[in-house]
Amino acid sequence: MKMPVKFNTYCPFCRKHEIHEVERVKKGKTRGLHWIDRQKARRGKVGNMGKFSKVPGGDKPTKKINVRYRCTKCKKAHLRPGFRLSKFELTE
Ligand SMILES: [Zn+2]
Repeated sequence: MKMPVKFNTYCPFCRKHEIHEVERVKKGKTRGLHWIDRQKARRGKVGNMGKFSKVPGGDKPTKKINVRYRCTKCKKAHLRPGFRLSKFELTE
């Protein structure tokens, strides 16, 4: 998929559509930890971790891509949930 570096999209800070600059980030943090992550953290890392001891099914064929959207008007950036793509390019 090819994505333009600048495009018009909704800004949650300005509460309207503004031109946004796209920046690729390694890890997306749209919201805090999910409940299952907190449950896993409570369980600790010693001994049998019950359902968390399961071996994951394996790698998915594609990696999740996380993109940061920076509003050119208020200079604030926001994230959106990552999406899976095999190819990701930013175009001018
Ligand atoms: Zn804005």
